[in-house]
Amino acid sequence: MLEDSYKHKGMRRALVKKIANKGIEDPGVLEAINSVPRHFFLDKVFVEKAYQDIAFPIEEGQTISQPYTVAFQTQLLNVQKHDKILEIGTGSGYQCCVLLEMGAKVFSIEYNQRLCEKAKKFLPKMGYHPRIFCGDGSKGLEMFAPFNKIIVTAGAPFVPEALKNQLEIGGVLVIPVGNSKTQKMLRITRISENEFKEESKDHFSFVPLRGEYGWK
Ligand code: SAM
Repeated sequence: MLEDSYKHKGMRRALVKKIANKGIEDPGVLEAINSVPRHFFLDKVFVEKAYQDIAFPIEEGQTISQPYTVAFQTQLLNVQKHDKILEIGTGSGYQCCVLLEMGAKVFSIEYNQRLCEKAKKFLPKMGYHPRIFCGDGSKGLEMFAPFNKIIVTAGAPFVPEALKNQLEIGGVLVIPVGNSKTQKMLRITRISENEFKEESKDHFSFVPLRGEYGWK
């Protein structure tokens, strides 16, 4: 039985403080991190460490991202209430729940069938209701485009054109791009039909983006 005790809530507040000290300023992001019980998303053996600012392995050789990384990407998205957001790489579902806590409508796509089916069952049990799809998110989710925001939570070899084209005008794509070891975080804003502004931020280390426009 999952329990969110005072102890967990206290540890979460300490984590939020740590992330704020590392430079995360968006109050909505900090509040969302403070609300989502990260220990529910981890394998039992890691539960005691859930509020340390580190990534952990989940099933299928994948990871739940470090809380600071989740906060950094979310802050770059500049999430507004009712934003329609596409997340590529559902994984444990944690990032997805952070976005939902901020009032966004979330479409999340996961390549790994097992993780995808697990998230579809697990998140509603916690009271979170994203739309989850199993498939190759490197191509986006054309059927539901355009999106206000797109967040990619796996490291890409390049920026897939399909993702840029699924942004509405004024929309923002946050995507880590680089090699298999390290990627720089890009924020791409769609200025007009054919114009995009690209900003390069800090370096991170993600598991690889697979699929047609990912790593083979
Ligand atoms: N957002 C996740 C969370 O909060 O737990 C972390 C995701 S993990 C760092 C990256 C995820 O991207 C993995 O679950 C992986 O299977 C998934 N992935 C990799 N390539 C993908 C693709 N082409 N489409 C959708 N998901 C993909």
